[in-house]
Amino acid sequence: MTDRTFDVVVVGAGAAGLSAALAFAREGFSTALVGEARAARDGRTVALLDGSVSFFEALGVWDAIAPEAAPLETMRLVDATDNLFRAPTVDFKAPEIDLDAFGWNVENATLVARLTEAVGETPGLTHIPVASEGLGGTQEVIAPGEEAGLGESGRRAVRLADGSVLLASLIVAADGRGSKLREDAGIRTRTWAYPQKALTTILAHERDHRDVSSEFHTRHGPFTLVPLPGRRSSLVWVTAPEKAEALAALDDAALARAVERQARSLLGGMRVEGPRGVVPMTGMSVARYTADRLALVGETAHVFPPIGAQGLNLGLRDVASLRDAAVARGTEDPGARAALSAYERSRALDVRTRTMGVDMLNRTLLAGILPADFLRGAGLHALSAVGPLRRLLMREGVTPTIGTPQLMRRREARAVAF
Ligand SMILES: Cc1cc2nc3c(=O)[nH]c(=O)nc-3n(C[C@H](O)[C@H](O)[C@H](O)COP(=O)(O)OP(=O)(O)OC[C@H]3O[C@@H](n4cnc5c(N)ncnc54)[C@H](O)[C@@H]3O)c2cc1C
Repeated sequence: MTDRTFDVVVVGAGAAGLSAALAFAREGFSTALVGEARAARDGRTVALLDGSVSFFEALGVWDAIAPEAAPLETMRLVDATDNLFRAPTVDFKAPEIDLDAFGWNVENATLVARLTEAVGETPGLTHIPVASEGLGGTQEVIAPGEEAGLGESGRRAVRLADGSVLLASLIVAADGRGSKLREDAGIRTRTWAYPQKALTTILAHERDHRDVSSEFHTRHGPFTLVPLPGRRSSLVWVTAPEKAEALAALDDAALARAVERQARSLLGGMRVEGPRGVVPMTGMSVARYTADRLALVGETAHVFPPIGAQGLNLGLRDVASLRDAAVARGTEDPGARAALSAYERSRALDVRTRTMGVDMLNRTLLAGILPADFLRGAGLHALSAVGPLRRLLMREGVTPTIGTPQLMRRREARAVAF
């Protein structure tokens, strides 16, 4: 059994964990990343909003990701519910808020692969591709000069499957929705499920998407086609569970026809190009984002249904906020109580408002009742007619003014603040 000591140990090598490891190592903290980096190719893509792109630029990894990502210049919402208060189609165009694109869409597995390469090239960052078995017990918590073991000068332990133990001033739990670290820290969760599943895949199509992401709101959930490089798009089709399973069981040609029909032939004929995934629609929130010398990031801290491209963008905001909290006081100790309290405060409102927004949108679609239809229809009417309101919503959705972490600010703003 060997013990090794780091400033920061990140557990979980998904996109959030890889980013956290890069962010801390680039600040000069000795950092270990625990876990194998392997993301299934299941048709899942992530639309990285402007702040996330700025963050990857700041980490020096965006140039490696960009060639495999497609810009999202227009976000189109189409009411396909056949309700009485049918809303107009609303186009949100990035140039209206002085952006070239709201964000960039990339396969999750590609993103993980590029981040893993960057991790391998970063000095001061040790990647240990071994599973963690959880937090060390209290007897494994080392706190020089303190009995309780979790004091300001303390370190916390992580046990690995190979029998070794790592010690760190800060442990970043990025081990995903079923996090063992979160459980070991006694952090309570609340989970909920929607009567829906999401079918994901990648399609090639006849017509150009012209950088337009189209979201059709159907009575069973949103059906979304998001641009990828070339004449390709990723599909997230949220629908009733039995329909999602039936669609997933179709052969490629029949599935392509079903997608073309649902998309009203917007992109012409289609061909299924990638593997498929079927994802249950669930949500999870946590009672706390921190414990002694432990911070939760990404899906360890919040799970959303895949609506509105929020999940990983919020996960990256967790990472960037944690980095800000750890470096803000010029402290040598990234897991100090003051840093973790600042992180806890930064997450509470941000995560709650995003969770509620996604939940409300999904539930108004599912409700199928007149007041909900009326409110959604009226809201979209207002957005289509009132430019300033539309621009305000776009700005707050893509580049929020309040609480934007340092590395998520646009390049010019970062330069001024440094
Ligand atoms: C269909 C779909 C579409 C989506 N679209 C978008 C989008 O457009 N935009 C967006 O922002 N988000 C989107 N999301 C959400 C996004 O995919 C997730 O938020 C993101 O992938 C979560 O990353 P993560 O690193 O937090 O978690 P994960 O990817 O789950 O990573 C957790 C990692 O921890 C590892 N791990 C687990 N246990 C251990 C252990 N004991 N020891 C070591 N390692 C361990 C796992 O192997 C894994 O590598 C979408 C999600 C879905 C399902």
